[in-house]
Amino acid sequence: MKRLTIFLTGLLLFLLFACKTENKQKRVLTLGISHESNTFATFLTKESEFLVLRGPEVLKDQKWAGIFKNAGIEIIPTLHAHAQPGGVVERQAFEHFKNEIIEDLKNAGKLDGIYMDMHGALHVEGYDDAQATLIKEIRAIVGEEVLISGSFDLHGNPSPEFVENIDLLTAYRTAPHRDGAETRSRAAQMLVDALKNGWKPDIETVVIPILVPGEKSITEVEPLHSIYVQIPDISKIEGLLDASIFAGYCWADLPRSAMRVFVVAKDEKFSVQARKEAVRLAKEIWDSRKKLELDVPSGSIDDMIVKAGECTDTTVFISDSGDNTTAGAPGDNTQVLEALLKHKSKNVLMAGIVDPEALKACINAGIGKKITLDLGGRIDNVFGKPLPIDAKVIFISTDSVMNTDRGVAVIETEGVKTVILKTRRSFTELRDFNEAGLNPLDYRIVVVKLGYLFPELRDIAKVHLMALTSGFCNLDIPTLPYKNIHRPSYPVDTDMVWEPE
Ligand SMILES: [Zn+2]
Repeated sequence: MKRLTIFLTGLLLFLLFACKTENKQKRVLTLGISHESNTFATFLTKESEFLVLRGPEVLKDQKWAGIFKNAGIEIIPTLHAHAQPGGVVERQAFEHFKNEIIEDLKNAGKLDGIYMDMHGALHVEGYDDAQATLIKEIRAIVGEEVLISGSFDLHGNPSPEFVENIDLLTAYRTAPHRDGAETRSRAAQMLVDALKNGWKPDIETVVIPILVPGEKSITEVEPLHSIYVQIPDISKIEGLLDASIFAGYCWADLPRSAMRVFVVAKDEKFSVQARKEAVRLAKEIWDSRKKLELDVPSGSIDDMIVKAGECTDTTVFISDSGDNTTAGAPGDNTQVLEALLKHKSKNVLMAGIVDPEALKACINAGIGKKITLDLGGRIDNVFGKPLPIDAKVIFISTDSVMNTDRGVAVIETEGVKTVILKTRRSFTELRDFNEAGLNPLDYRIVVVKLGYLFPELRDIAKVHLMALTSGFCNLDIPTLPYKNIHRPSYPVDTDMVWEPE
């Protein structure tokens, strides 16, 4: 009997010690498949277009990783893949990424949490909802007890099937985006806090049937500014952890395309409060839907070129909005370049046109040489066509950055300089111009393949005009060839009635 008592006491002490050790070192696995997929674009986003990070590379210089480390949590990084917005993702790319993540997850041992670094507007050929497929497979392996937290771009469209399987989520609070690192850190911090305190979070969702492009849902201007600024205070209400407003992604012809509000409660005790705040925000957004408009002058290409010509004392930025590469368009449409030449505009920079063949021809010809090209209009073969052009090669660079071949050439034709790119990329930062030996402020007109200007350009552009060009990112939403969206949705169904529940 005495022996048995000693044995049982020993066993109890061992178990207590084991439990304590386990409590000390929590384990979080991380992953990410981040893409904004334009379902109108006629080209696929290929595996080779993704920047894929694995293992320690994932954690390098990431604030969110520091949050887990400082909390004494062991991080198990798996695959994190990110590509610039483009057409629907090719099936094999997604399956390679997913299979690798799932394999790593199966080999990871016991986990306490998972952090997903996502965009939220991923769409994959052959899948109704690839993001939901991914999280459901993860959930099937780890069960209900492991907490999953995710960070998102506010232009995501996470479906109910996806959200049902996630415990914590947060999204950017700025568009143009200025808070990527903060958002990822919030997702990490919420997971740390929930694990430490044993919370069982609840997410309250209101889907708002509005399709709005990013250009009409800028968070720095009204009507959304005064709605987004409420988010930090909502997150401080007792029992609530976070609120997110997703503007959504309108160039996806999918049932899940919409605006959304999410409010995260610590646990179901606070669900009523979370629901109340979500409904209140959704109602404010719905009531201001008619004010979701462009914050800069807009019009046809011709009108915008004439307007820019009247502005002689500063650089005028013109967005070629239909061919917006930051929303998934190809960036090889030449309609604006053709119009600039027709208007005999001078001291103009066109940034840029994607055409690897033309780039090769420039490299073969060499700097200072005259060249005749059929430029662009190949990837976008719906709204674009190649433009015959005579030009002089004035700059060539074949630098490679971040595993992506970012080769560029600059050609000049009658006062218009055009940047020719090897691969699809966007001129969003001054660095992008500098790599091509350019300073945008040296020109009277700078044309960019963007919609809204990204922060660095927005901060230096005294005049910005939106050319309403044709393309896969057409800003005239009611005219888009939607077949699969939820109906009714505003502004496709202009007079619809809706009330948040
Ligand atoms: Zn975005």
